[in-house]
Amino acid sequence: METRAVPRPAELSRSSRVTRLAVPAVAALLALTTACTGSTVQGRPGASGLRDPYFPKAGNGGYQVDHYRLDLAYDPEDGVLHGKAVITARAEQGLSSFNLDLSGLKVEGVTVQGAGARFNRTGNELTVRPAEDLRTGEVFRTEVEYSGEPRTLSDPDGSEEGWIPVEDGAFAVGEPVGSMTWFPGNHHPSDKAAYDITLTVPKGYEGVSNGLLRSRTETGDGRTAFAWHSAEPVASYLVTAAVGKFKVATGQTPSGVPLYTAVAPGEPEGGGPALARLPEMVEWGAARFGPYPFASAGAIVAPSETLGYALETQTRPVFSGAPADEQLVLHELAHQWFGNSVSPKSWKDMWLNEGFSTYAEWLWDEEHGGPSAQRRFDAFLAGDTSVDEGAGTDWDAFPPAAPPGPEEISEGPVYYRGAMVLHRIRQEAGDERFFALLRGWAADHRHGNASTADFTAYAERKTGMDLSKVWDAWLYGRKPVR
Ligand code: ZN
Repeated sequence: METRAVPRPAELSRSSRVTRLAVPAVAALLALTTACTGSTVQGRPGASGLRDPYFPKAGNGGYQVDHYRLDLAYDPEDGVLHGKAVITARAEQGLSSFNLDLSGLKVEGVTVQGAGARFNRTGNELTVRPAEDLRTGEVFRTEVEYSGEPRTLSDPDGSEEGWIPVEDGAFAVGEPVGSMTWFPGNHHPSDKAAYDITLTVPKGYEGVSNGLLRSRTETGDGRTAFAWHSAEPVASYLVTAAVGKFKVATGQTPSGVPLYTAVAPGEPEGGGPALARLPEMVEWGAARFGPYPFASAGAIVAPSETLGYALETQTRPVFSGAPADEQLVLHELAHQWFGNSVSPKSWKDMWLNEGFSTYAEWLWDEEHGGPSAQRRFDAFLAGDTSVDEGAGTDWDAFPPAAPPGPEEISEGPVYYRGAMVLHRIRQEAGDERFFALLRGWAADHRHGNASTADFTAYAERKTGMDLSKVWDAWLYGRKPVR
C-alpha cells in the first residue's frame, strides 16, 4: 500500500506557525537571573495555552510536535481505553516544564527522554516537569501511559465531541477540542504532526483511523491490532479512532488513490448511494482544486444519531448514518483540501474551512444538473435559502471572519456568507482567475496553516485586483449584506 512520496511533515509543519506568546515577565526575569548566576538551569515553563481568540487554553507553548505514536486498546464491553502516547517534539525555548492538553482519564506515568518525569493536572492541562531541562531546539520524546473511560464533551454550541461510545463500539471526533479526551497532545490546529496509531480491539471488531492501514495483526490473546499511518501532517482535531463491527470496503479511485470505508452494522451497504460517488468526487476535486493532498481516502459511517453532524476527519470523514445526499459527501471531501491540508491558524479562521467547502458543494451542483452558484447567490440575497436546508434566515447575521463567540464558529454565516465571499471574488475576477486562485491557495499552503489575512493578501496578489470592497462588506462587515 505504499504510495507517492510525500514531503516530510517536520519540515512542512515548521513553515507557517501562529505567533508564539510573549514570555511572562516573571519567568523571563527568573531565567535571566539563573543564567547570570551560572546555574545549569536554563528552562522556564512553556505556556499553558496558545491564546486562540476562541479557545485560549487549547494547545501549549514552548514546543512543536513532529510525531505522535498512539498505542490504544479499547474494549466496547467495559468502555475502558488503555493508551500509551509517544510524542516526539522540538523545544522552541528552554523548558523547565511544558503542558499537554488532556481531559479526564488517569495518567499512570510520564517519561521524558526515557527518564521518569513529574507531572500534575489542573483542568485540561497536564503539566510535565522533565528530570532535566530541555534546551532550545532539542528534539525530545515524551511517553504518557494512561487509561480510563474517555469523556464526551459538549461544545460551546451544544454539540457533542470527543469520545462517543455507542452500542457495541465508539467513535472519536475532535472539532474543535475533543481530541484531548482520548490522547494527550498539543491540541490546537496550528501544530500539525504525523501520526502512527495502533488500535487493539477484541476479535470481531474493526479498529479504524486516519491514513493507510499498515498492518492487521492477531495478537494471540483474542484481540486484533490495526496499525494506521499518516505521513502527511494532521491537525489533532482531525484525528479519529472508530471501533465497531464494521463492514469494510477497500478499493481505489480511478487515478489510484487507495480507499478504505467502514460502515456500521445496520447502515446501507457501502454507506449508500451518495457515498458511492466518493471515488468520482475525489477525481473531480483534484481537477478543480489540485492534486488530492493525502495518501488515502474513504469514510467511516457511524450508526445514525451518533452525532448531529459529519466531521471531515483526515482522509476518512465520519458520517452519522449513511450520508443522505451527495452535497454532504462532497463537503467533507472538499475539507481535505480546505481545512485539512490548508488548516486554519486559529479557530477564528473557520470560514476558510466551511465557506470553501460550502462553495465546493455549489460548484459540484452547478456542474451536476443543480442550480448555478450565481442562481443560489441571487436566491439567498432575495431571502430564499430553500436550496440549502441548513442556511435558514440568519445566514448573514454576522461577518464570517469574526464570529461573535466560540458557540458561533459552526453557524450559518461561517458556511453560507463565507461561500458568498468566494462567489463575490468570482464575480469580480471572472472564472479563469477565480479557479486559478482556488488552486493556487491549495497548492501554496499545502500541508500548512493560513489565516484570513493570509487569504485576503493572497487573493489580491493572485488576481492583481483590489478586493477591499468585498472584504469590507462581506467578510468583515458587521452589517447584514442584504
Ligand atoms: Zn464543513
